[in-house]
Amino acid sequence: MSGAPLLHIDDLWVRYRTATREIPAVQGVSFDLYRGGSIGLAGESGCGKSTLANAILRLLPKETEVDGRIELEGEDVLAMKPGRLRAVRWTSASIVFQGALHALNPVQRISKQIAEPMLLHRTETSKGAAIRRVRDLLEKVGLPGDRADSYPHQLSGGQRQRVLIAMALACDPHLLIADEPTTALDVMVQAQVLTLLADLRREHGLSMLFITHDLSVLTDVCDELLVMYAGRVVEEGPAHELFRSARHPYTRALAAAFPTIGDPSSRMRPSGLPGDPPDPAHLPDGCAFHPRCALAIDACRIDRPELRVAAPGRRAACVLVEEPVR
Ligand code: SF4
Repeated sequence: MSGAPLLHIDDLWVRYRTATREIPAVQGVSFDLYRGGSIGLAGESGCGKSTLANAILRLLPKETEVDGRIELEGEDVLAMKPGRLRAVRWTSASIVFQGALHALNPVQRISKQIAEPMLLHRTETSKGAAIRRVRDLLEKVGLPGDRADSYPHQLSGGQRQRVLIAMALACDPHLLIADEPTTALDVMVQAQVLTLLADLRREHGLSMLFITHDLSVLTDVCDELLVMYAGRVVEEGPAHELFRSARHPYTRALAAAFPTIGDPSSRMRPSGLPGDPPDPAHLPDGCAFHPRCALAIDACRIDRPELRVAAPGRRAACVLVEEPVR
């Protein structure tokens, strides 16, 4: 890719501090996202994906320590003053969370909720223009414009998720961060929302950072994937290649883990991956995946492998990965 990246993350560390301990949730993550590109962050719950996404827009609690560099459209996010940060959160980058019922105000019509960021951050927008744009945005996300007068409880889960996407697009951001946007939806609605996001990306030249534990979903909507485990990136590369021929044992297990039909909880705890990710406050020595890895050897319990080139354009952090001969 040429030119400056839209989002530049360099050696990012995020630590949650409590009275008694420090929890390193993200450890030394670096990547670049270019205009019009899309990167998927994959991994189980607790591996640091959402912490990373929230760090980009400084949405983490005050006690959190963030080190490293986050540049959005060339601006240092960690140095932004509060007023600038509030504007950037809507006009440069916006975020779509899962669980739209909790993200929307239950006692406000959705028209008001979608119009609010426009009236706050696009001060040249009149009230009438904002209401017209709300209807346009709803139609763009596949909802009839007359649903603008609805309250959140009058919409289905999939419709509410579309409302959140419309709201995120209100100020024409260049980057959309989608944090598990389809996890709470059934498979059919999930497919519709994914298609919608892919269409919006194409039509508007949006860049997208898409986060989910479901590797197959990411492969459908992203160009590049980063797989995270215990706060670190353990594998990265082009989405389809990585899904087809994962180099890291954790990625292979994640790719092979399918939810059990009829068991909604299995979408969060896929089968085929024994045990749980480690407690970030008490990471094992060596490779953090070794207690769950069927291929672990003695060296895995001692040395923590760094990312190394596994193939052109691909890197993985595993002692078994052999660098290609030049
Ligand atoms: Fe498994 Fe060892 Fe590779 Fe870690 S470094 S993924 S424990 S083989």
